[in-house]
Amino acid sequence: MEKVVSGIRPTGNLHLGNYFGAVKSFVAMQDQYDCMFFIADWHSLTTHPKPENIISSARTILAEYLACGIDPKKAPIYVQSDVKETLELYLYLNMNMYMGELERVTTFKEKARQQPDNVNAGLLTYPTLMAADILQHRAHKVPVGKDQEQNMEMARTCARRFNHIYGEEFFPEPQNYYFSDKAVKIPGLDGSGKMGKSEGNCIYLRDDDKTITKKVMKAVTDAGPQSPNSERPQIIENLFTFLKIVSAPDTYQYFDEKWNDCTLRYGDLKKQIAADLCALVGPIRERINEYSANTDLLDKIAREGAEVARESAAATLREVRRIIGFRV
Ligand code: AMP
Repeated sequence: MEKVVSGIRPTGNLHLGNYFGAVKSFVAMQDQYDCMFFIADWHSLTTHPKPENIISSARTILAEYLACGIDPKKAPIYVQSDVKETLELYLYLNMNMYMGELERVTTFKEKARQQPDNVNAGLLTYPTLMAADILQHRAHKVPVGKDQEQNMEMARTCARRFNHIYGEEFFPEPQNYYFSDKAVKIPGLDGSGKMGKSEGNCIYLRDDDKTITKKVMKAVTDAGPQSPNSERPQIIENLFTFLKIVSAPDTYQYFDEKWNDCTLRYGDLKKQIAADLCALVGPIRERINEYSANTDLLDKIAREGAEVARESAAATLREVRRIIGFRV
């Protein structure tokens, strides 16, 4: 079975954009591939040298992924810093990466601009650490967003170069994996095109019914449909996008018809979306709360995930040491 590895940024809580845009696909992938997920806490040091609450942040994100349906028996989930084998591979890969190519990576240039006082070597070699995360499991596929495409190119360069230098086809070149041809984009309800943390317009999986309802009822709208069968302006289309994603097809059709014959009341539409969202998020939130209250279980899941990951990485590293010529 093909191996899939994906990193998770340990930043903040999951929102509906993350859920529909990524996490749901992870849950589906665990039945189709040999998956492993990891919480990328080392990577955070490139931008946050003194992170607070590393362990509890990892637990938070772990609880949320489990609540969404990641099954650690199918897809081990581990914390990056628990698998120190990664660092040895990071070192070997770095020996074959060149300053010029690392400096040309767009995310490096962006971060260097954002934090001119902390253009550290970890930031420069971020793509090498990411390559080590992937190659240590000899993964075939990596689910990626647009922002990771160049880093994936670097991971393939690392694999290809290693194979070439040491004359052995050892690492498969990991391929970008896209969940679907047409990416789901969850809009913001403030009229903006995208739900996102930096946009400050998120509905979180931890939000209670009251908060969700309040956020939906505050969604930006206009004066209403002016003529039959007219095109919907973006802010209204955003609401229909939600309806399509969270409500039943006949509910969507009902409101679509109301729009088309100009009898739509936005209040009714919002109430419907809020109710269907609460029904969707409620059980997830309950599971998040259950997992969050059981830190022993979370730690056990992370420990067991790390064991599987360490075993997989150690097997790779034994081969890597042999190939380069170190004592095994
Ligand atoms: P972020 O929390 O911004 O690091 O996003 C992590 C991943 O969640 C992204 O790579 C996307 O796959 C997904 N994602 C985030 N926001 C959205 C959104 N508004 N619509 C669809 N997918 C999203």
